[in-house]
Amino acid sequence: MSDVFTKCVEWKDADLAKEMDLYPFYQAIEASYGATEVSVQGRRMIMIGSNNYLGLSADPRVKEAAFNAIQRYGTTASGSRLLNGTLALHEELEAKLARFLRREAAMVVSTGFQTNLAAISALPDRGDIVFADRFNHASLVDGLRLSQGIEQRYWHNDMAHLEELLAGSDPAVGKLIVADGVFSMDGDVCDLPGILALARKYGARVVIDDAHAMGVLGAKGRGTAEYFGLEDELDLVTGTFSKSFASLGGVIAGPARVINYIRHKARSVIFSAALPPPCAAAALKALEILEEEPERVTRLMDIAEKMHNGLRAMGYDTGGSVTPIIPVMIGDRMRCFALWKALFQEGIFTNPVTPPAVSAGRELLRTSYMATHTDAQLDRVLEAFERLGRRLGLIPRTRPSSYV
Ligand code: PMP
Repeated sequence: MSDVFTKCVEWKDADLAKEMDLYPFYQAIEASYGATEVSVQGRRMIMIGSNNYLGLSADPRVKEAAFNAIQRYGTTASGSRLLNGTLALHEELEAKLARFLRREAAMVVSTGFQTNLAAISALPDRGDIVFADRFNHASLVDGLRLSQGIEQRYWHNDMAHLEELLAGSDPAVGKLIVADGVFSMDGDVCDLPGILALARKYGARVVIDDAHAMGVLGAKGRGTAEYFGLEDELDLVTGTFSKSFASLGGVIAGPARVINYIRHKARSVIFSAALPPPCAAAALKALEILEEEPERVTRLMDIAEKMHNGLRAMGYDTGGSVTPIIPVMIGDRMRCFALWKALFQEGIFTNPVTPPAVSAGRELLRTSYMATHTDAQLDRVLEAFERLGRRLGLIPRTRPSSYV
């Protein structure tokens, strides 16, 4: 007789990494010092592994808003939005997000992951086709699995391949194109102009997951469509509050009738408890601060440029990133862990990314920055990358002449 637990007892990958003192995951943060520095294993570290792009989780105004929401509503909404869980605070946040994102309507969901599950699972009917970028986030992939649609994956940002698939599909069936706005591991931006042109040509609708683009791309931080000047043409946008918005939760924004449909059909919305009051209040305050202080977005992009230039000048490959997500391409699991560990020991917190988050051979160290990082912190990070990269043989001993 087979026992579903047997594989768990036999699975030793994590134990082996721990024995070699190279286990990087589930590191417990003991305290946060303004978000850019944290304490781990009793040591203070510079955090360049967070999605807190605007640094707002440490902002006193955001903390106060969360605290006040607990005082007013309690710690939780204690149920689904559909039934007892909708708060006036949710509606205020939805109205503000719809205005900010320049959409007719917006709905708030309890996590970013559930947001994508909701949008992608609810829309395609049986026989409809969903065209998905191969580098899409797991939540979009899983949303599609839960939907009735047929999946067609196109090569990453490859518009020729997307067109080939669209051209080969039945003109009569419904079509949805789904892509990350900013790809979560590589920090590159989807070819939105290309996607929208093909969508128009072949009668497809488009959903863009702007989890890593809201608060980051566009002069006002409104995301990928603002960055390309295409806000009027995008059908649906999803986002999360766990990154720039210093909270937890997510949003779907688009035409009112579509939002209304998803609100009543999506199982990850109907059958899950609503976004807790402090999370809704923190996201709302973070959004207000973003609108009042767009210079935070400018500072973030300046930091991204400084770190790109710095790392490239040393000879690191940072892929196609143009955002504050800057991958350091390593291409090997153990070398990736070795650089992670060397930086960790220097007091620098990064994220090693290995399969299944990327395909084998694309292992990378993901670094990501906040608008509130100081130049002194960033210079320390660059100095450590140069010294350790040379020691580990990941970059040349002298700077490549073309970069000097
Ligand atoms: N979409 C993308 C592109 C993401 O990177 C993530 C999480 N990293 C999510 C959605 C899910 O968001 P959350 O973690 O807030 O649930």
